[in-house]
Amino acid sequence: MKTTRRSFLTAGAAAGALGFPMIAKAQSPITWKMTSAYPKGSPFYMDGPGSATDLAKRIEAMSGGRLKIQVYGAGELIPALEGFDAVRAGTVEMNHANSYFWTGKTFAAQYFTAVPFGLNFQGINGWFYDGGGIQLWNEVYAPFGMVAMPCGNTGVQMTGWFKKEINSVADFKGLKMRIPGLAGKVYATLGVDVKLLPGGEIFPALERGVIDAAEFVGPYQDRRLGLQKAAKYYYTTGWHEPATVSELLINKAAWQKLPKDLQAVVENAAAACNVISEGWCQKTNAEAMEDLVKNHGVIARPLPDDVIKALREQTAKVLAEAVAKDPIVKKVNDSYMAYKAKFDAWSKFSETPYHTKIQA
Ligand code: CA
Repeated sequence: MKTTRRSFLTAGAAAGALGFPMIAKAQSPITWKMTSAYPKGSPFYMDGPGSATDLAKRIEAMSGGRLKIQVYGAGELIPALEGFDAVRAGTVEMNHANSYFWTGKTFAAQYFTAVPFGLNFQGINGWFYDGGGIQLWNEVYAPFGMVAMPCGNTGVQMTGWFKKEINSVADFKGLKMRIPGLAGKVYATLGVDVKLLPGGEIFPALERGVIDAAEFVGPYQDRRLGLQKAAKYYYTTGWHEPATVSELLINKAAWQKLPKDLQAVVENAAAACNVISEGWCQKTNAEAMEDLVKNHGVIARPLPDDVIKALREQTAKVLAEAVAKDPIVKKVNDSYMAYKAKFDAWSKFSETPYHTKIQA
């Protein structure tokens, strides 16, 4: 007998009466809310390949419409940096941001966004997917009732924009710089007057001389803010953010209620966005960097070796202090650094000679 829609639904109702889950009920879509730390329209974070809206589209397509994600930019449902509390409380099921915004809740969160002089895009993914990184991320968030996974990456960022040349460590003394997070703490040890400004306030502050230097992301995003009109020295490379990870933060109770196949959909969509967003950054940054140097008079150069040496030493000191204060930071740090030692040794045989040959 041919199964008609009517007989199918009747069978479902009968199964429901017998205590089996009703098919019609199982197929009704689940709708989740996802907030972001970035405003609507932000390239990379909210719009474009691998962004929050792209992630939501992929989840809906891969689940055949069974899981729908409503995406909210910063300020639409909650303020920019309240995603941690909102997901923890279950007000929203998901938040799309960077874990280093939550270092005030738990310092270990820093390791899942970026560690100065840490792992690059290839390295961080090796640690996340195969080196226990995601498990540790979930362990750090277990007391808060949340789980997390990577869902995007900017690739390597840039040191930033400086009004004056940097020739030595002494040039940092008294320099007013916009720089968030752990890198800010490191710069502070060199005498930098660290300023925390949201993205939109960087250009006016740099142009008016309220600050002397600023870091934001990389060539594409920085050019969009117009930073090249306010400073000409653009230092490389992103020692402070070698591969900045976007975080998909999920309420654990909601996650555990999600059927296993939909969990797999979320995990695979997030992994896809992780790769796709980084690819997009590489392409757009390559174009923007060329434009900045050729058409905007930007002077791009690496920081002097002694400056890099000092930043490296200070980073080690700042991390050692954090490790000494908290056992979970020590656990995450030990895993990250052990993996990095292996990755760096392998890179010496693999990537490093390859790049040297290309330049020769
Ligand atoms: Ca940055």
